Amino acid sequence: KATAMAGTEPEDETDELGDEIDAKAMMQRELEDQRKTLPVYKFKDELLKAIAEHQIIIVVGETGSGKTTQIPQYLHEAGYTANGRKIACTQPRRVAAMSVVARVAQEMGVKLGHEVGYSIRFEDCTSEKTAVKYMTDGMLLREFLGEPDLASYGVVIVDEAHERSVSTDILLGLVKDVARFRPDLKLLLSSATLNADKFSDFFDMAPVFKIPGRRYKVDIHYTVAPEADYVDAAVATVLQLHVTQPPGDILLFLTGQEEIETTVEEILRRRTRGLGTKIAELVICPIYANLPTELQAKIFEPAPPGARKVVLATNIAETSLTIDGISYVVDPGFCKVKSYSPRTDAESLLVRPISKASADQRAGRSGRTGPGKCFRLFTEHSYRQDMADDTVPEIQRSNLASVVLSLKALGINDMVSFDFVDPPASEGLLRALEDLFALGALNSRGELTKTGRRMAELPLDPMLAKAIVASERYGCSEEVVTIASMLSAGNAVFYRPKDRALVADAARQVFSAGGSAGDHAALLNVYTEWEQSGHSAQWCADHFVQPRTMRRARDVREQLEALLERVEIERRSCSGGDLDAVRKAITAGFFRNTAQRRRDRLYRTLKTWRTVFVHPSSGMARLDPPPRWVVYHELVETSNEYTRQVTEIKPEWLLEVAPHYYQENNLDAPEP
Ligand code: ADP
Ligand code: MG
Repeated sequence: KATAMAGTEPEDETDELGDEIDAKAMMQRELEDQRKTLPVYKFKDELLKAIAEHQIIIVVGETGSGKTTQIPQYLHEAGYTANGRKIACTQPRRVAAMSVVARVAQEMGVKLGHEVGYSIRFEDCTSEKTAVKYMTDGMLLREFLGEPDLASYGVVIVDEAHERSVSTDILLGLVKDVARFRPDLKLLLSSATLNADKFSDFFDMAPVFKIPGRRYKVDIHYTVAPEADYVDAAVATVLQLHVTQPPGDILLFLTGQEEIETTVEEILRRRTRGLGTKIAELVICPIYANLPTELQAKIFEPAPPGARKVVLATNIAETSLTIDGISYVVDPGFCKVKSYSPRTDAESLLVRPISKASADQRAGRSGRTGPGKCFRLFTEHSYRQDMADDTVPEIQRSNLASVVLSLKALGINDMVSFDFVDPPASEGLLRALEDLFALGALNSRGELTKTGRRMAELPLDPMLAKAIVASERYGCSEEVVTIASMLSAGNAVFYRPKDRALVADAARQVFSAGGSAGDHAALLNVYTEWEQSGHSAQWCADHFVQPRTMRRARDVREQLEALLERVEIERRSCSGGDLDAVRKAITAGFFRNTAQRRRDRLYRTLKTWRTVFVHPSSGMARLDPPPRWVVYHELVETSNEYTRQVTEIKPEWLLEVAPHYYQENNLDAPEP
């Protein structure tokens, strides 16, 4: 018996190995079959023919037709990368780039980062092998700095052009120019909306290739009266659909991470009330920009048999990501909109009603695989009367300093004659030029200075970039780079569990020496101590610090360090703790964000005379007495205007770091 067993063993093993290979081959075949069912597949030859015949093409097709995942593969298979040139496919959103590329690598049966890779800010997953490169539009914009003719690319696909992000709009102007002197470059624009004429006009009547979508009928339901609390109404609607409607997944549109998280909790809480009755399982899948990658994949997994999936998504699910199997859409009709006013210089991220075009896109998500239903949590009257037809392009509601700096670095001096799809308001451009001049990035003739050139190399907001450049003078580049990395890693450095809020607050106060050291120093201290702990998860737990944010900060820091070398800034530390050096460098970048205390806890911004408060999350919020002079990282507008990430400064520093901007007499306002 023993010999028999020994004899069969190796065979068993090969069998198992064989099974594994079979399973893999089967999965690959399945993916292959799925690819063939996508609407774009039937038009593959026609599309390739059109691309061969025209240099520039606009591709229009319903979300989910396969534009993003398939077209780059078709071009790769058709030999467009055979000459060693790459295909770029840009996305306005990081998550979309990452999620789509994972799928494409799977379909091609290659490891992510080999033939297919992606590049997003602070994260590069490509190699020499990479032929198909997904990237954010902002990253391709940065590549122009090193390669103004995009020589390493044979095809550029500007995907999701209808989103009209600032970077997409600038890209369109730049690639139009490159296409003129590089007849070998193929340019594709893809858009999910049928309103492609604008792009066609912009590209001198480039042909529009339409991929007819499968779209089933969608029943639209409105509320009779406006909802007082849309989150509450959304939870009720989702649960009611779950109990009363036939199988099919639900997609709920919300405005951001925090709202999604509380809604998840609320659904869980109210769902358990129904326990005991025979209600099918409800699988809850959130998706938003900062969700860890492992969890992002979950939204694509089908719910187990008998269960229903509800996806809680931000705008990202409107056109960038397609989730199969959605039969019901719940749309409260809101999204977060960034807006900027050059007059007040305040940037705000506010929850606003969406446009009709957005509402229609959202509804369409339910009718991809069969007839769908869309439940709008607003009235038909408000759809018809209150909602704008289209969303205003981001370029017309953004701070343009960063864009203008990039364009100047590309040698584009005259902003007014740049070929914009929709030009930004001249007031905004002027404001950006003034700001860059104040930062020393431009000279009085509007030309890029050496400082400006260095700033443009850093993928950061110009003010933060300036702080890093200035840190050279104060011998504290190490510290300022750490602070910049922490500021870029996201707002969620600390967490605050409801049942331990006081302990968490106390733990947090320690990092800023009870508030007096300032928020920038607090970020520096958090990072330094985390490093010293050996990146310990326990340390994070003990101090209520989010490990994910810290890991991201470390990644950002590594990249910034490499860039320091490129712009020839020596890595120096003001060790021994001369924090005033660090504060001065920060002030050199953020001097325009100076506020002076008027009375109590009320501050006034020095340049725009706005009344602002210190954000409650700041270590300084409870300092008594509050400092008289502060610089802040940003101004956020909610019910009031709040300054976030605040540090005390001495007014005479302003004369030192920005003598062309501040004179003595600006500063001697009477004591409060
Ligand atoms: P389009 O760009 O035209 O909107 P896509 O190419 O993004 O379409 O999507 C085509 C199909 O690929 C969709 O059915 C979508 O569900 C699927 N898909 C895309 N990304 C993933 C992913 N990460 N996991 C699973 N399926 C995906
Ligand atoms: Mg797409």
